[in-house]
Parts: sequence; C-alpha cells; structure tokens
Amino acid sequence: MTVKAESKTYENYINGEWQAASSNETQASINPANKNEIVGYLSLSTKEDLDQAVSAAKKAQISWRKLSAPARGEFLYKVANVLEARLDEVAETMTKEMGKTFQEAKGETSRGISILRYYAGEGMRQVGDVIPSTDSEALMFTSRAPLGVVGVITPWNFPVAIPIWKMAPALIYGNTVVFKPASETAVTAAKVIECFHEAGLPAGVINMVTGSGSVIGQGIIDHPYINGITFTGSDGVGKRVGQGAFARGAKYQLEMGGKNPVIVAEDADLDQAVEATISGGLRSTGQKCTATSRVIIQRAVYDEFKEKLLTKVREIKVGQGLDGETWMGPCASESQLNTVLSYIEKGKAEGAVLLHGGRKCEGPGLEDGFFVEPTVFENVESSMTIAQEEIFGPVLALMKVDTMEEAIEVANDVEFGLSASIFTTNIQKMLSFINEIEAGLVRINAESAGVELQAPFGGMKKSSSLSREQGQAAIEFFTNIKTVFVKG
Ligand code: NDP
Repeated sequence: MTVKAESKTYENYINGEWQAASSNETQASINPANKNEIVGYLSLSTKEDLDQAVSAAKKAQISWRKLSAPARGEFLYKVANVLEARLDEVAETMTKEMGKTFQEAKGETSRGISILRYYAGEGMRQVGDVIPSTDSEALMFTSRAPLGVVGVITPWNFPVAIPIWKMAPALIYGNTVVFKPASETAVTAAKVIECFHEAGLPAGVINMVTGSGSVIGQGIIDHPYINGITFTGSDGVGKRVGQGAFARGAKYQLEMGGKNPVIVAEDADLDQAVEATISGGLRSTGQKCTATSRVIIQRAVYDEFKEKLLTKVREIKVGQGLDGETWMGPCASESQLNTVLSYIEKGKAEGAVLLHGGRKCEGPGLEDGFFVEPTVFENVESSMTIAQEEIFGPVLALMKVDTMEEAIEVANDVEFGLSASIFTTNIQKMLSFINEIEAGLVRINAESAGVELQAPFGGMKKSSSLSREQGQAAIEFFTNIKTVFVKG
C-alpha cells in the first residue's frame, strides 16, 4: 500500500515564480526507509522549461551584476535566516527523502546556513590586486567579472549543502543560476529554493528546473547561454559534463568520486583510529565522496585494531533516520542498495574475507526500506574491485601492510585522489604522508570525511577536474579575471 505522507507536487522555480512543467508530468520521490511513503512529487521538465529558466537568468544577470557585492551579500544573509528558521523542517524532509539520520540532516542544513553567511561576507572582501606597472604614470590592477549564467548540477547525497556551496558563491560574484537538483532529492532541493524565494531575491536570479539527468542535465551541458557549469556526481556523468562544456567553450568544474584510504600506523592511538574509521566510513551509510573505504593497517597492530573495530561495528544500530536511536539509516535508493550488495558479492567472489555484515537488513521496521548491514572485509588486495571502485555504501576493506612505504604505495594505488587520512603519533610519518599522498584533502589523526566550509575542497586524479570549491577558492571558478591598465 502506498502512503501519501505529503502528496504535494513541487514545481519548477522560474523567474521568481513556481510553475508546473510544460509536460505536466510528475514523478514520486519516495522514502528510502519505507518505499511505500511518498515524500512529494517532482516535475518532469522539458527542454522548453529549461529554455525559459535560462532566458530568465540571462535577463536577470544584467541588473544582478550591477548590484554592489555587499548588496548581493545582504540577500544571502536573508536566505540564511529563512533557512535557519526552517532548519528542522528542511532536515526532516532530507531524512525522509534521502535516508540520513535526522541528526546528520540537521548538521548538513546548519552547514548550508554557515556557507550562506560565509559567502554573504565575501561580498565585503577584496577581489583584486594592484600590480606595479613598468609605466610609472599608469595604474594596473585585476578585477573579477562574473561568468554570466551558471548551471548547477548536484547529486543526492548532500541535497542541501552541495547546492548551497555552489549557488552562494555563484551569486555573490554576480552570476545568476539555473539549478538542476538530483531527482532522488528534488523535494529537499525545492525547500531550499523556497528559502531563496522567501528572502526576496530578484526574479530570475535563481531558477530551479527538475527532471531527468538526460533531459535537463544534458540540456544544461548543451545550452549556448550557460557560461559555466558546476557539477558534483559520478565519474561517468562528470566526464559528459566536462566534454560537452569544453566542446562549446563553457567553463566547467567537476567534483566526482573517491576511494579514500585511512592508514593506521603501528604507533597510532588505536581507539582514536577506530572511532574515525567508523565515523568516516559508515556515517551517512558510506554515501559521501570523502567516505573512508580502504583501511590500511600496519601488521604489528592489525589484530588489535581489527578486534576493536569489529566490537564497535557490531554495536551500530541501523534504522529509520527519524528514530533517535538510529546510528545508520538506509541507502538512498533501491538501485544504490543493489549496487552495494553487488560490490559485496564481488568482494566475496574475488577472495576477500567477510568479517561482518554483507546482507540487506531484515527485521521489524526495516522490511520496506533499503537497509544494508555495515560491512567489513579483510584480506583485501589492491587488485580487487572493492579496493578500486567507489562503492558509495557502508563497506570497509581492511588491508594489511608491513611498512609505511608500502602503506602509502597501496593508498595511492587507485585512480581517485579525493581524501586520505593517517593515524600516527610520529611526526616523520606525518610529514612523509603529507608529501607522498595523492589526495586533495590530507588529514592527520582525523577522519577522511571531515570538511570545513572556509577551506578549499576538491580532489586530485580522477576525483575532480582539478579545480577547487568552497572557501575563497570558489572565486577562481565563478569569475573571470580582468587585468586593467589605466593611463591618464
Ligand atoms: P550522478 O552522476 O548519477 O548524478 C549527479 C547529477 O547529474 C544528478 O543531478 C543527475 O540527475 C545528473 N545527471 C544524470 N545524468 C546526466 C546527464 N546525462 N547529463 C547531465 N546530468 C546528468 O550521481 P549521483 O547523484 O548518483 O551521486 C552519487 C555520485 O556522486 C557518487 O559517485 C559520488 O562519488 C559522487 N559525489 C561526489 C562528490 C564530490 O564532491 N566529489 C560529492 C558527492 C557525490 P538525476 O538525479 O535526475 O539522474
């Protein structure tokens, strides 16, 4: 039986107004903790809807760009205040639609509020440099110009924080936005856009068009009036975005997957390493691009670390995200659950030893959801699929090594390079790790999944297009530099 928890249809937001998709078609967004519960309906938009949104954004950009940056910042402060007032409601929608626990959803929404305030403040900060000219009578300096209309394509795993960390810097630097959220979490995205609407942003400055990736996402890639595309998601779609944008001369920024290692050295504080491995690997059901998936442990402490880890993993309570007792919610969708289960089968078939978990969860309250057990493998070799491909689920692969050199070699032996941690009390090992590890986020005695909004975020190798998001790094993507030479 289908329970319509909230059967509202969420429309597109174009030129300051909510409007139904021209197809009049909708799609149900369901609760992954209970597939019979519909969280809401999203509009399945067409190319015509996208065209309208892009035209509105193009028109609005002229006056938005002319506003002073501090005045644009005032709007972002207002959005932050509205989102803060709606924090619990937005977080609850996220938990229902995506599955992460209410506590995590509140944390993510609070992060979104802080990001809005951070970029509101950026409107008051310096954006250029004065450069000495060889002509003593001239003034030479750099200033920053917005790209114009920016397309924002986001995944479902952080449905509030990722869109905001792309849209807030886009707006503060004078761009206007056409946003296509992940279909899986389009209701949560609509609530975020409601906050921009309530804050009174001028019509057309921000627009949201929901619908399939192949129609609306591809439409953004191809649209001649979209000057920049910022994308977070899978490697395969990221490549399409990059190739399509490059082909028509648009700027692009891609954040994609990870296969993040944690190294546990023989001198590590093992309790600290266990806590961080569990938090980094299994929170949000492992559905973070920065999640720990490979645990590379020196032989001397392997057995002790393994026992401590398993003791804690056995205590993990899997359940509905809105239940205060739950530590780990469901996978975000049935297809994500099936992907995780198929990787677990591959792990077993390729000779890894299953120490814990590995199955879909059964039991009261779990039968209609996409729940999977927290899973730990050992005897994992670098050549195995589960040591190479991003699983995006609560699966930890334990790998035993003899030396630190071997640990770093194994850590680097993947195509991705997003985040990496080491647990050690030895300064020399810390320094070697900082120098040798191939990762954009390098973490010492801290979990792989921690990110601070005021610092650059992004990966090396296949994890990104090598640009950085967040903090002051965002200005590099969302603006073009003008070098100005003035002579009287
Ligand atoms: P996808 O790449 O499938 O989707 C991301 C977005 O792209 C969605 O909005 C999707 O729309 C859209 N899309 C799908 N097909 C196309 C297309 N042909 N053209 C343009 N856009 C398209 O990723 P997921 O949403 O499944 O997210 C999970 C992935 O994201 C994981 O692999 C994870 O590693 C990565 N990720 C990376 C992060 C990072 O910062 N490095 C952070 C978070 C996630 P629709 O939903 O309608 O299909």
